[in-house]
Amino acid sequence: MTPTAKILTHKALADSLVVDSAGPPEGDASRAGYLRREVVDLFRRGMSPALLSLLCACGLAGLLSPRLSATAAAAWVLAHLLIAGGRLLLVVRFKRQRVGDELLVRWRGYYTNAALVTGLVWGIGSVLLVARAPQVQQVLAWVVLGAAILVEFPALARLERAFLWLLSAALVAPLALALLGPAPLPAAAGALLLLACASGLAGLDLRRTYIDGLQMQMEFARLARFDQLTGLANRRYFDETLGGEWQRALRLNGEVALLIFDVDEFKRYNDHFGHPEGDACLRRLAAAVRQVVHRPGDLVARIGGEEFAVLLPLTNMSGATAVAEMVRLTVERMKMAHAPEAIHPVVTISVGVASLRPDAGCLSDDLIKAADAALYEAKHAGRNCVMSGPTDEEASPAARRLREALG
Ligand code: GH3
Ligand code: MG
Ligand code: MG
Repeated sequence: MTPTAKILTHKALADSLVVDSAGPPEGDASRAGYLRREVVDLFRRGMSPALLSLLCACGLAGLLSPRLSATAAAAWVLAHLLIAGGRLLLVVRFKRQRVGDELLVRWRGYYTNAALVTGLVWGIGSVLLVARAPQVQQVLAWVVLGAAILVEFPALARLERAFLWLLSAALVAPLALALLGPAPLPAAAGALLLLACASGLAGLDLRRTYIDGLQMQMEFARLARFDQLTGLANRRYFDETLGGEWQRALRLNGEVALLIFDVDEFKRYNDHFGHPEGDACLRRLAAAVRQVVHRPGDLVARIGGEEFAVLLPLTNMSGATAVAEMVRLTVERMKMAHAPEAIHPVVTISVGVASLRPDAGCLSDDLIKAADAALYEAKHAGRNCVMSGPTDEEASPAARRLREALG
């Protein structure tokens, strides 16, 4: 990762995936999410416009060749070769460099400017090529110019108004030639205006389709990873993240800690207050826990009905136990009234804590089992308490056997 690259926290990612149908949502994280998608999509499609534009330029030189001087043809092709080379280099660098969020606007600018230069060279260059040529060659040139403009559209539709700028950059010079040149050709000017209107509308439509697709994509991504009721990560996202953090800890020889907590006597709560009130209680509880677990990289997830997990990468048992106690206290201090027959007057949670150092014989499942076992003990110890799970050795018999075998 480059020094400037920024790690998106899970909260920022969750926020970034929240979209509504009216367009990019409010909030810095959400905008960052949109921006990243747009710019990544832009560069993902960036190769073909550069190559197709070069192809069109060579095609035009070929079409005009009988009357075109070798010098003019060479200058025209060379200019496009240089531009296409520069644009390809830009795309390759973007892909290799894993550009951080704070540089996205700058890179978007690079791409737009490169496309604008291409448009200007097309507009001005083609005018210079055909200014004194017969009208039929002018018409040929404008047809190829139309093609060169259109090849830019699919990528530029990712950016607000960018294709309109490109259209203007490419068409001003040909329009001026058709209206004010040595042999004015109003029909050509009309055709160019028609091209501008038709491709402008097509570009707008393409942009709308892109935005719809992007919103749907982000909504699916959100639904696939986040719990509808609480907005926390769901089981699937939790499992993915645990897998990744486990591998990272293995590389760094660090520990991964996990808290699993469960609402005490929640069945009684539901029976007394009703299911909708139970849902509201889970939502409040989730929001409160998210407030206290805010270190970047930590993940709070809802992994079952009233069962939650907090993943704490690179955290040892004592650090994790402190976080667990803070989470437990936070819920207790919310003072949400419990059902009268519950053992505690307010809603409480029981927490199981485990922290393991991954190694060849120890799987991420062992961490879940260890935290689960600790939670079970906390329930048996009277609830509303934190229990630490077995140590590294006890939780992972396979790891212990391996170490014993290795002496
Ligand atoms: P314990 O202290 O041992 O955890 O007791 P408990 O009553 O919480 O445990 P049990 O597993 O018997 O009950 C869990 C309850 O959680 C039952 C179920 O109705 C409720 N529950 C699970 N998911 C939801 C949910 O999404 N919304 C609501 N309102 N209740 C839920
Ligand atoms: Mg429970
Ligand atoms: Mg439960």
